[in-house]
Amino acid sequence: MARIVMKFGGTSVANLERIHNVARHVKREVDAGHEVAVVVSAMSGKTNELVDWVQTMPKVAGAASPFYDAREYDAIVASGEQVTSGLLAIALQSLGINARSWQGWQIAINTDNAHGAARIQDIDGSDIIRRMGEGQVAVVAGFQGIGPDNRIATLGRGGSDTSAVAIAAAVKADRCDIYTDVDGVYTTDPRIEPKARRLKKVAFEEMLEMASLGAKVLQVRSVELAMVHKVRTFVRSSFEDPDAPGMGDVLNPPGTLICDEEEIVEQEVVTGIAYAKDEAQISLRRLADRPGVSAAIFGPLSESHINVDMIVQNISEDGSKTDMTFTVPSGDVDKALQVLSDNQEKIGFDVVQSEKGLVKVSVIGIGMRSHAGVAATAFRALADKGINIKAITTSEIKISILIDGPYAELAVRTLHSCYGLDKA
Ligand code: ASP
Ligand code: MG
Repeated sequence: MARIVMKFGGTSVANLERIHNVARHVKREVDAGHEVAVVVSAMSGKTNELVDWVQTMPKVAGAASPFYDAREYDAIVASGEQVTSGLLAIALQSLGINARSWQGWQIAINTDNAHGAARIQDIDGSDIIRRMGEGQVAVVAGFQGIGPDNRIATLGRGGSDTSAVAIAAAVKADRCDIYTDVDGVYTTDPRIEPKARRLKKVAFEEMLEMASLGAKVLQVRSVELAMVHKVRTFVRSSFEDPDAPGMGDVLNPPGTLICDEEEIVEQEVVTGIAYAKDEAQISLRRLADRPGVSAAIFGPLSESHINVDMIVQNISEDGSKTDMTFTVPSGDVDKALQVLSDNQEKIGFDVVQSEKGLVKVSVIGIGMRSHAGVAATAFRALADKGINIKAITTSEIKISILIDGPYAELAVRTLHSCYGLDKA
C-alpha cells in the first residue's frame, strides 16, 4: 500500500467526460488499496475567463481607474477549482468511491497575505490522513488557500501544482502524481524536435532549471517545494486509458519521475535543452567602473518589479569605463528603459542600447559538474550552424546562450543532437 496524491490539470478536467475519466484513474489506485488524496485545477480556460471578468468589471462599472481589489480577484478566480473539485467528488461517488470535496480554507491551507501570488505557509495534513485511513478520498481544490486576513488567497497562475506538492509533503505521501496533457518530461520540446525523448528520471535541481528556463510542464514553485521536502513527483498523462497495463505500477508508473539525484543511477552529462522566447537585451555603454554601479542599476529595476535575468559585465580595460548587458522579458523593455533614463545621472552611463525578440536556449544537466568541455561542445555546434552568440551565462548545472529569435528552433535541434540526446 502506498499513499498517493494525484493532481489533475485543467485539460484533464476540461469537461464532464474527462472528469469521469479522471475518476477512473483515481478508482484504479483506490481499488489497488492505496490511500489517495486528489488535487484539481479549474477546467482549462476557466481561470482565464474569470481573470478577464475581474479586469473588465471596473471598466463596465465606469470606474476611473482599472484598479481592482486583489482580495476580490482571489475570491473570483478561485471559484474554478471549487467547481471541478465538487464535480470530481460526484463522479467518484458514482463509481462507488467514498469521496468528499474540500476548499483550501477548509483543510486549511494557510498562506501569506500576498493575494494573487500567495505562498503556502503551512498545511495541517492530519484530517486528510484520518480520512484516508477511513477509506475516504479527499478532493482538494488546487490553487487556493486562506490568508492571515481570513480570506481566500490564490497561489499564482499554475498554482495547483504547488497545492499538490504541498499537500503531498503535509500528508507524507510516497508519491505525488501530476497528471497532465503530456506523458512526461522530455529532453526538449517535441514540437520543435520530434526526436525528443521522454526522460525516465530527472533530478529536482535539473527540473527546477528546466521549469525556470522555459519548460512549461510544472510551475517553478512546485518544483522548489518538491526539492525542499523531497517529494517524489511523477509527471504523467491523464489521457491514457486508466486501465491500460502498467498504469497502476507502484514503483514505475509511466511518466517521468522527478526525484533526488541519488536515485538516478546512470546520470547523463546533459539531461535536456530548454528555451525561452521573447527575451530582450539591454546594454549600458561606457559605464563608470566603480563600486555601487550595479546596485544603482538593478536596485531601481527591482523596485519597478522588472525581472532581470542574465547579467553580463565586462572587466574594463583601464579601470574607468565598462559595459553592462542584461536581459529582461521583451514586454518589460520600455518600462526598463524608462527606469534607466530616470536614473541616468545617478548610474552614470553614456548610451543605452536595446534589442527585443531574442531567445535564450539552455543546456541543463547535473552531470556537467563533473565533466569538462560541455560548453565548448555547444559553442562549436552553434558555430558550425552559423548561429551567433550574443551573451552567455552559466551555473554549475546549466549553460544559457542568448541568440537571435529566428535561430531558436535550429539552435534547440543543434544542441539536442550535439549531446546525443536524440539517440540514447
Ligand atoms: N487554474 C489555475 C490557473 O489556470 C491554477 C492551475 O491550473 O494550476 O492558473
Ligand atoms: Mg495548470
